[in-house]
Amino acid sequence: MAAVPLQEWERGDKTNVEIIGYGWRVLEYFHAEEKRVMVRLHLPADRDKDRIQLAVMLMLRDIKHSRKWLCEFCGAPARETHTFNFFYRVLDSDLPRLVVYCHFVCDMDKRHVREGLTATHHLMNTRFDGTLGPMPPFASFGKRPSGKVYPLAGSCAGCQHEDTAVDEGVLKRCARCKMTRVCGAACQRADWGRHKVACGMIYSVTFENWG
Ligand SMILES: [Zn+2]
Ligand SMILES: [Zn+2]
Ligand SMILES: [Zn+2]
Repeated sequence: MAAVPLQEWERGDKTNVEIIGYGWRVLEYFHAEEKRVMVRLHLPADRDKDRIQLAVMLMLRDIKHSRKWLCEFCGAPARETHTFNFFYRVLDSDLPRLVVYCHFVCDMDKRHVREGLTATHHLMNTRFDGTLGPMPPFASFGKRPSGKVYPLAGSCAGCQHEDTAVDEGVLKRCARCKMTRVCGAACQRADWGRHKVACGMIYSVTFENWG
């Protein structure tokens, strides 16, 4: 199989990780496009699976607190994410590249979310020659503790209060990564010990279809 060449942002001496987040669609002229974000990182070249997984997990919180994401499948405010990734690609291929697909959803227990994710899984299998295998049972993803409500997407990454998930422009974006949002200096200081790790890893952030 012919090698896929490095893209312009990718480096031969690093593990190149791209996380693509998908939210609710927006009407662009005469067709609907999902709102998206692409976050790119360069991790050490050793392709250490634990390190990559940890980096992605850390990053997901920051991506969630970057915009007021809506459920990809119903348009309600998102509180949870579901990710598909392709570790076999980064572990087995000549090219040190990993793509992680992150889907913003309102509630993993809702039927429309499960149907939407299952349909997405099948679509990805069609695109990647069935390498994802069958959709794992939803019970295997880990259960949300009963009564637990996860913070709203787009709320402050520090305090995560519901009423901070306001319209664009009110929260402040981290000056370095231009992604994570907080409601003010106090929350930024309080969250910095956590955020600085993710912040330092980010190479670029691109929002698409946000107008
Ligand atoms: Zn939904
Ligand atoms: Zn806050
Ligand atoms: Zn930052």
